[in-house]
Amino acid sequence: MYTVTVSGETLGYVNEKSELDQKLNEYINHREGTIALIDIKDMPEYKLDLVARKTATQEKSILEKIEDTSVITYKTYAITVNGEKVNEVNTEIEAQDIITNLQSDLKEGVEFNLGIVEVFSQEQNGISENSALETLNGMKLAKVQEYEEEQARLEQERIQREQEEARKRAEATAAKAAMTASFGSGNISGLNLSYPLRVNPVITSRFGEGGSRRYVHTGVDLATSLGTSIYPIASGTVIFAGPSGTYGNKVVVDHGNGVQSWYAHCNTINVGVGTEVTTDTCIATVGSTGNSSGPHLHLEIRINGTAINPQNYLY
Ligand SMILES: [Zn+2]
Repeated sequence: MYTVTVSGETLGYVNEKSELDQKLNEYINHREGTIALIDIKDMPEYKLDLVARKTATQEKSILEKIEDTSVITYKTYAITVNGEKVNEVNTEIEAQDIITNLQSDLKEGVEFNLGIVEVFSQEQNGISENSALETLNGMKLAKVQEYEEEQARLEQERIQREQEEARKRAEATAAKAAMTASFGSGNISGLNLSYPLRVNPVITSRFGEGGSRRYVHTGVDLATSLGTSIYPIASGTVIFAGPSGTYGNKVVVDHGNGVQSWYAHCNTINVGVGTEVTTDTCIATVGSTGNSSGPHLHLEIRINGTAINPQNYLY
């Protein structure tokens, strides 16, 4: 009989070594389900021995012992989403089925790229086609939702951007309309300007001059005698009339289109808030109230709240 040893360990005795070899080959080559490979580390060795006849053939138990040491490798098919393995199913056909199913109504733009990769493992990882499909469908729906939320967010941003641009355009147009009024002929924003004094004054301080003042000069100073009549530079509505800190007695006339004219350091004021005035209305008289060193009219022109140089138009 033959003594069967594996890695030096005696497993038993057989009559025919070819029979055991054949059975081992059948074991190694049988393929069931996801089995890809059966590997037996040490094949048995045989030694012809003289043993007592009563020693039974132990083929079956020898086979079982050898099979116990074998390493089985399973092959499954993983479905990948955007390159990452998600679920493994048992066959390539199942994997392909799932992909076809998921891709059938996939919305354009949704990042849900499916693929198949073979996975070899000593563990049986494959799950049923249905549960893999369920998991992947859940992922797909989440991706679709994510995509739709992102689209909604982008749309919202686009609308906000458009509104902001429209607002800026409107502002720029208004500013341009105010600032590009023709300057040469004493016009501003469609207004024909006239001189606020009907005498020739002495210009004692120009727009923008600093000197010893704490602030840059926001108007032009027109010196003339106390009590000289002041007329608006254009028709409009009085929106302020009264004392105003360093400006002294002040009248502000609104001419529309964002244009205002200010008359400061007045001696007397002849109008009140709401008075409609023309270039022939004597609104006040020249004085020296507020921060002033002598009788003069401080004339200020504001466009949309910003003081501009009156001498661009007058004097
Ligand atoms: Zn001044």
